Amino acid sequence: NKQIHLDNRPEGEAVASNFKLVTAQTPELKDNQVLVRHHYLSLDPYMRGRMNDSKSYAQPQPLGQTMQGGTVGEVVESKHPKYAVGDKVVGFGGWQEYSVVDASQPGALKKVDTTHVPLSHYLGAVGMPGVTAWYGLVKIIAPKAGETMVITAASGAVGSAFGALAKARGCRVVGIAGGADKCKYVTDELGFDACIDYRLHPDVKSMSAALKEACPNGIDGYFENVGGYIFDAVLLRANAFARVALCGMIAGYDGQPLPLANPALILINRMKIEGFIVSEHMEVWPEALTELGTLVGTGKLKPRESIAQGIESAPEAFLGLLKGRNFGKQLVKLI
Ligand code: NDP
Repeated sequence: NKQIHLDNRPEGEAVASNFKLVTAQTPELKDNQVLVRHHYLSLDPYMRGRMNDSKSYAQPQPLGQTMQGGTVGEVVESKHPKYAVGDKVVGFGGWQEYSVVDASQPGALKKVDTTHVPLSHYLGAVGMPGVTAWYGLVKIIAPKAGETMVITAASGAVGSAFGALAKARGCRVVGIAGGADKCKYVTDELGFDACIDYRLHPDVKSMSAALKEACPNGIDGYFENVGGYIFDAVLLRANAFARVALCGMIAGYDGQPLPLANPALILINRMKIEGFIVSEHMEVWPEALTELGTLVGTGKLKPRESIAQGIESAPEAFLGLLKGRNFGKQLVKLI
């Protein structure tokens, strides 16, 4: 069983030598355990935060152990009465080819139906990133039909789901993404009303002019994934009582400071800004996953995936995700 361990913690930018490839034996199964062969590993930006040893909402990733993370795969051996060989499952097996899971633990493993939704999407649109978009939109922004929503990292796992969910609620949806290809995908395939290439608008003044054009009625809801000057530009275009779901600040995950130029605008616009962690809101997952599964199953949400091949490719693919080199949900395919 090949595994990727966290070998040492990053100093500043995360690098490939923080990780180590290890080969281990798979232990014998005990009662209630199942052996899962992973088909895909999920790579997610939050993993960067856990590589540090600093105080956070989650425990740090322990050194010398398999990198933790979401997985989908197939049961290949079972000592649990409710799981049979061949069952497709989503779990938290980590960066390795196989995992031994105590299936009697609540939430440790979930069987999934791959009739209408491909297995890999349970790590993306019909999984944690999809629910993240759903929670920020429905529970924090609480949009009304006709309102204007803006989201950064629009072509990504969270962003693409957000677009479909907001369109389904009758909103105008404007994405922000890096590069012409990503922007074209956001409007043409994901159905956003407009998409702004932030590389063409690298400062607050230029971005706020682009937002003015794309959002003629101002901004009512903002879903923040990146942080930095785009947030400043959004504040300049926000309507009174606009709501912000603070989901991620990927531009600062390697320790870069992300100052806000004019926080007085939050007061002047009487805005609500709320940060959230999706795993603390398990109560919404069933409702959110049902809607997301329907959007994917009916072709209204066409999530794109960036697929790296083989366990050895996981560290580089992860570092690429932190630099925006992914295009859609970043996965590692193992078989
Ligand atoms: P994505 O698939 O969106 O990939 C990350 C994207 O971030 C890149 O593709 C890149 O797209 C974009 N990006 C923008 N600016 C930068 C920058 N300065 N440096 C690097 N990348 C940049 O990832 P996810 O959809 O999985 O996650 C999106 C956000 O949601 C992240 O911030 C993540 O931490 C957050 N998140 C939060 C959760 C929560 O519970 N709060 C749960 C899940 C995710 P581009 O080329 O367009 O810039």
